[in-house]
Amino acid sequence: MVGAMAVKEFDKNEVNKLSAREQLGRLNWSVTVRYLVIIVILILTLLGHALGLNYDLRGIFVAVSLGLIYNIACSFVYTNTRYPKVWPYIGIVIDMVVITFIVHYTGGIESVFLPLYFLQIVGSNVHFSRLAGPINFIFGGGIFLLLVFLEFTGKLSHLVQPYTGGVLIYQHQTYVTMLSFAMISFMGISTYRSGYVVRSLSTIEKKLFEVNEELVQTNRAFFVANRRLKEIDEMKTEFISVASHQMRTPLSAIKWVIKMLLDGDMGPLNVEQMDLLGKGYQSNERMILLINDLLNVSRIEEGRFQYRFSRNDLGEIVQRVIEEMQPDIKARGVIFRYQQSMSILPKASIDEQKMHLVVQNLIDNAIKYTPKGGKVEVSLGLDNDQLRFKIADTGAGIPARQQDRIFSKFFRADNVIRMQTEGSGLGLFIVKNIVEGHQGEVTFESKEGVGSTFTFTLPIEGRGPVPGTSFEKFMSSI
Ligand code: ADP
Repeated sequence: MVGAMAVKEFDKNEVNKLSAREQLGRLNWSVTVRYLVIIVILILTLLGHALGLNYDLRGIFVAVSLGLIYNIACSFVYTNTRYPKVWPYIGIVIDMVVITFIVHYTGGIESVFLPLYFLQIVGSNVHFSRLAGPINFIFGGGIFLLLVFLEFTGKLSHLVQPYTGGVLIYQHQTYVTMLSFAMISFMGISTYRSGYVVRSLSTIEKKLFEVNEELVQTNRAFFVANRRLKEIDEMKTEFISVASHQMRTPLSAIKWVIKMLLDGDMGPLNVEQMDLLGKGYQSNERMILLINDLLNVSRIEEGRFQYRFSRNDLGEIVQRVIEEMQPDIKARGVIFRYQQSMSILPKASIDEQKMHLVVQNLIDNAIKYTPKGGKVEVSLGLDNDQLRFKIADTGAGIPARQQDRIFSKFFRADNVIRMQTEGSGLGLFIVKNIVEGHQGEVTFESKEGVGSTFTFTLPIEGRGPVPGTSFEKFMSSI
């Protein structure tokens, strides 16, 4: 039966929501960075002013205030925006204008804040879409060149001259040209380099997304298949249960008819007739056993396998099974031995009928898969407060590569199929279930061509009606 596997279905929308959330997260992060930059600018300009640089503090404060108001507006807009993808582009323009103002008020090409252009280019390239970098470069480079040009030509006054008494750097043609080239080149290189990193990262992200998509699909298919398999499995169990019930009644009728004939109730039979009817009776019995096994399996799977525990002597059960199976043991021609370590074993909580089935199955397997002349040894004893039943044979053994499937339903190993022995592959499945239903454990050791040993243990204080009072204990011990 397919286990009730908890399969979680992935939601594709979840992934999309994630990327929108991620975008918003980046925008908010850029707000934080902007606050940081504003603080650094303020500290540095105040410091520069205190150290004698004649910064235009008023202009700087106006520019910084503009940046501050803009940033506060951003944090409000970002958390309420439906279009997080548009805002980075608006931000690029405003950021570059504010940076250029600050550069202008702190000395134009002599400003110590020129690196702000690089920070802006790399930051938006990394944080936002592929277009953000180049747009930043073109717009930022353009506005910077415009500022330099306007200051150089005197159309815009050059506000700070830190090198008082020295050369007017902003009007030194070679220097201004060199600096402009250097700025534009490095801004371009920064755009390219950070863009390259971003592209590689987004390729990886895309691949991850594709893999995730595939996983979602596979998982969905797996989920559907699993549900279908469960349905089929339930239908199959139900079918087996109904069919087995239907077949058991006519088989029982056949059994009693043949039995009456064999017992001579309908008159004497000759040897040939007796022989034929005997074979028919045996086949019918095998069929009944198979039907019973099928019914047990479907009960186990439907959780309807009920136990009736009472204090029982496992030794008695084993001896009874051996007595009943004597004709089979003799017919198989194996050397059979039974040994019980103590004459009286402590009683345990056992469902007698079901335990009978366990012992019968294990002995049946041992004699069935052991060739004529081979040995089958059954032993029963006490081991650390547990009853231990052991059956060892010198039979066909179980191939090592198939041993992990030995307790699976309908499993029969290759070597015994080749031996053309009969079997349904249900016995050990039932055995394991019953033993575990008694809080016991069943194990085996086997070597192909050498033999097998099956062992099961049962706790003496089992799950059943364990006597509680000393009177009950006394009664159960006698
Ligand atoms: P069945 O005997 O009806 O095939 P079981 O569930 O009892 O079904 O056993 C499952 C399989 O385990 C068998 O078909 C056989 O391959 C293997 N097996 C069980 N007991 C023995 C044994 N004593 N010796 C060798 N093989 C065994």
